[in-house]
Amino acid sequence: MFEVKSALLKSLQQLVLKPRCTMCKRFSSGVLCPDCRHKLETCQAAVSLTFVDNRPLIAWGHYQGLLKQLLGRLKYDQQAQIAHLLGQLLGIAWLENQSYNRQSIVIPIPLHEGRQQERGYNQSALIAKSFCQVTGLNLTLNGLVRVKATAAQFNLSPQDRLINVAQAFQLGSELAKKECGKNIVLLDDIYTTGATIHSAVEALSQAGFKVSGIAVVAKA
Ligand SMILES: [Zn+2]
Repeated sequence: MFEVKSALLKSLQQLVLKPRCTMCKRFSSGVLCPDCRHKLETCQAAVSLTFVDNRPLIAWGHYQGLLKQLLGRLKYDQQAQIAHLLGQLLGIAWLENQSYNRQSIVIPIPLHEGRQQERGYNQSALIAKSFCQVTGLNLTLNGLVRVKATAAQFNLSPQDRLINVAQAFQLGSELAKKECGKNIVLLDDIYTTGATIHSAVEALSQAGFKVSGIAVVAKA
């Protein structure tokens, strides 16, 4: 009887503890099951390369479909494990583009302290961590500090977005120690009008740092 019970308990435990797909909740050894992974791949932009103020911007995918849902889960549903997968995908896309400087340092766009405490993590920093594991670039986690608690951008006009995030960033202590000569890659989860990136570039440029590229998971 004891053996039956323990076998039953074991299979119950396996059932409960077996990892499930983040999106459809079916059993899956990865963050996504093969079906959802396939849906995610349809959002891929085949390394979308555009230029923002003459700086190359690499986006892994289009902000739509399953990629949009995943980024929503990552930000609002405490599903931090999604960041690891997205950082890996972005890192592979980055490596496929061989023209980049391997000595660059990567700075994730920070959240304001209050928002980060609320969420428990900065999704861009988590994405940047696995991005740097894949690319071998140096992560400078606190290169920038967000000093202004800005309103959510999604319901603002492009002009209001610029005003909303103007002077939102200052140099972080970790960056001040590094030499100015290094190229900086800014990393964010979503790129929409570019207002946030523009503000971060301004803060860095004013202090004599050079932003050589931008990496984002999704471009709207
Ligand atoms: Zn699934």
